[in-house]
Amino acid sequence: GFVDRHAPADVVADCLPLVQHLLNKAEIEVARRDTATRLVLMNRTELQQVLVNLIVNAIHAMPDGGRLTIATSDTDRDGTPGIQIAVEDTGIGIPPEVLSKIFDPFFTTKRQEGTGLGLSISQTLIVQQGGTLTVTSTPGEGTIFVIFLPEAR
Ligand code: ADP
Ligand code: MG
Repeated sequence: GFVDRHAPADVVADCLPLVQHLLNKAEIEVARRDTATRLVLMNRTELQQVLVNLIVNAIHAMPDGGRLTIATSDTDRDGTPGIQIAVEDTGIGIPPEVLSKIFDPFFTTKRQEGTGLGLSISQTLIVQQGGTLTVTSTPGEGTIFVIFLPEAR
């Protein structure tokens, strides 16, 4: 798709109205922290798709409510200037033996409506732009997905 420069916080802002009814229904509080000043090169719709995937996964992980934190910041990775977008939930978490499979196509733990393609496609879209999509999780505490994208210059 058409690739252009975007402020990460603007793309996050695009996504929230799309999931607001789900957040309300699940009684999930949203916190945002935006300090990123750099721009990224990405197809805007594809970055929205990645973020919505991560947010919907976070909502599924918090059936009894919780807090979703989305933070954008400037950061460097291996000497490459860029930005990160962290999507953090206070949900069920991911056991270590499952963690190694979640980016595999068709891997899902959901009985219904799980295609298992969300993270696989998301990682492909981010890697195509020279970035990374990584995860840290603690069962019973929550999960953090981090998107890194190089700065557009
Ligand atoms: P799907 O959502 O269709 O199952 P995904 O590729 O989006 O497929 O996610 C794969 C699996 O990763 C999920 O089924 C779930 O087990 C796990 N997962 C993803 N995000 C989270 C999260 N925020 N908290 C707990 N588990 C998660
Ligand atoms: Mg999903």
